[in-house]
Amino acid sequence: MSQIYEEIYKKYYLLRNDIDKFCEKLYLEHSSYLQCKKGCDLCCMDYKIFPVEFYSIVEELKNNSFNVSDIEKKEAENNCIYLKNHECLIYNSRPIICRSHGLPLLYTNDEGEWELSACELNFTEFENGFTEENTFPQDKFNSKLFMINKKFIQESKEKKFAEFELISIKEIIKFLV
Ligand code: SF4
Repeated sequence: MSQIYEEIYKKYYLLRNDIDKFCEKLYLEHSSYLQCKKGCDLCCMDYKIFPVEFYSIVEELKNNSFNVSDIEKKEAENNCIYLKNHECLIYNSRPIICRSHGLPLLYTNDEGEWELSACELNFTEFENGFTEENTFPQDKFNSKLFMINKKFIQESKEKKFAEFELISIKEIIKFLV
């Protein structure tokens, strides 16, 4: 791997660490409301992610000798192939979008308005208690990821990516066999 890729992936892993720390704080803060537990996979699906995230995960799984034979074929197209017996096979390397599962997410919608998304299993009686401080600021972290991805696609020699191109996470295993 070239040094420039190594540096870009490092930036992605650092961002991921920051997000994990932020999520940990929110999970603690909302712990009395959260029904999330091992075995709940309601948020899981075949997400599409930026190339930088995709290839950083590929690199990490390769380095950790991820066992592709654990993957089962999924019939429904939108199912996540890394889900096995309701558990995530790539939990430590899972994409950023999977790290805030269950938390209240704050973001701007396509009309440019603030929107809040929260799991109904978790927040049945909490409608008015959300603030900027106790919700996950999706736009802030997405902007950081966008900038890291921008650098990645500028440097990418093997393949040209469009600015908003996304890749399905199920494609990761093609790079591991
Ligand atoms: S990568 Fe893991 S956490 Fe994310 S959707 Fe797939 S099984 Fe769920």
